[in-house]
Amino acid sequence: MNKHLALARPDILTLKPYEHAVWDPAFERMHANENPWRTNGDTSSAGLNRYPECPPFELIKRLASLYGVTPDRLTVGRGSDEGIDLLCRAFCRAGQDSVIVCPPTFGFYKVAAKVQGANVIEVPLIKERNFALDRAAVLAAWNPSVKLLFLCSPGNPTGTLLDANDLQALCADLDGKSIVVVDEAYIEFAGRESFSNLVDRFTNLVVLRTLSKAYALAGARVGSVIADRDIIELLNRVLPPYAIPTSTVETVLGTTDASTRSQFDDRVAILLTERSKLTVQLAKSPLIKRVWPSDANFILVECVDAEAVLNAAKSVRLVIRDQRSQPQLNNCLRISVGTPEQNARLINALSNTKGAAA
Ligand SMILES: *Cc1c(COP(=O)(O)O)cnc(C)c1O
Repeated sequence: MNKHLALARPDILTLKPYEHAVWDPAFERMHANENPWRTNGDTSSAGLNRYPECPPFELIKRLASLYGVTPDRLTVGRGSDEGIDLLCRAFCRAGQDSVIVCPPTFGFYKVAAKVQGANVIEVPLIKERNFALDRAAVLAAWNPSVKLLFLCSPGNPTGTLLDANDLQALCADLDGKSIVVVDEAYIEFAGRESFSNLVDRFTNLVVLRTLSKAYALAGARVGSVIADRDIIELLNRVLPPYAIPTSTVETVLGTTDASTRSQFDDRVAILLTERSKLTVQLAKSPLIKRVWPSDANFILVECVDAEAVLNAAKSVRLVIRDQRSQPQLNNCLRISVGTPEQNARLINALSNTKGAAA
């Protein structure tokens, strides 16, 4: 058994999981109180009158093969957001346990922890070193109430990859002490291997992947948690039954097969080319003071006059993300890489704008 289950909530460990209706396609179903007829307009192949398979094994197999892990090391939720929520609910006792987050970072870690009643400890990234992780500070901040450490690689909104040696050292440092969660929502843009191949070596490592960004399926809401199988089984106890809709399962099976792989690769390549172009062009704008290098599909910029940049974008019907409320990100905005036309439109609007500095 994975010794890190000792970090989980004892009441979840002893909880008897909900028993959903058995799944056996060889039989006609009179055991789940479903409607025996499909409704007009139901174009699904399985029939939306039926509950989906639980857990959705075909979907899990497809995701496991995309991510190069075995199906028993993966569970699937409604976006990786649900994975984050499940982790907080499975590991944190309300009013007693804590999580560590490293800002500036993705805001949902803190929200999910707080909804669960967990305490949030913040250990800032090191701005002077391209927002690198401060491993010594994380270890210094650790105390026995800390169950989860949330890391993001590439970071959102920083765009910075986590150093592989740092991560392995941290997993070893926190062995028996805390779960280390690495959110790899943007790893497909980084040209580097995922950390998911390390979950056998470090049984406290949990990796989050999503179809929302590089796979262009944000609306399908599909995120994966990859971890040692005992942790997967624990999270499955907390996941609501039938969490993934039939329409989502069928959409994903139809859009992630070998025939769509080349379109996927081509588009990632275009976005990477656009990212480089945009990085160079943004750096030339007098409205922008600093452009951080990015391993993701967005670029973090520090503006001379953030308001002028936001307004320039608005004037050509583009919205970019204000990051000024995040620690260490005064005057910073985050720009998602768009189509070549959208990127050119943004750059054009900036060159036609006079900011405070001009
Ligand atoms: C977009 C994003 C997510 C959310 O992913 P979903 O799978 O759509 O829920 C998770 N983590 C980070 C860092 C993100 O930027």
